[in-house]
Amino acid sequence: MDIRKGDKVQVISGDDRGSQGEVQRVVRAKWGKGRRAGQRKVAGDRVVVAGINLVKKHQRRTGNVNTQFGIIEREAPIHISNVMLVCPKCGKATRVGHQIHADGSRSRACKKCGEAFDA
Ligand SMILES: [Zn+2]
Repeated sequence: MDIRKGDKVQVISGDDRGSQGEVQRVVRAKWGKGRRAGQRKVAGDRVVVAGINLVKKHQRRTGNVNTQFGIIEREAPIHISNVMLVCPKCGKATRVGHQIHADGSRSRACKKCGEAFDA
């Protein structure tokens, strides 16, 4: 799981292939804690990307005046394997490598230019 909230990603398959956007939310497939422990939440690791994979949703009118209703467009989560991280340094869609520092800490790094993403 090398994609985090706030990362810029490029979509590599589907209708939105080639478009880029910022990760708004990461939905993990792992087993939960607490009351819902043991229940699998979703079918895989997914991300919600701003402006990508828009679906029309029929939102019911609620009592809350601040809630939009009618047909609204929302981002639907897409599978992590359908996106690639965009390197902030070289701007290319890349695979993610890892750098291990002398003090034992790890950071993600671009496979193309070798720059570390996390300080
Ligand atoms: Zn790079």
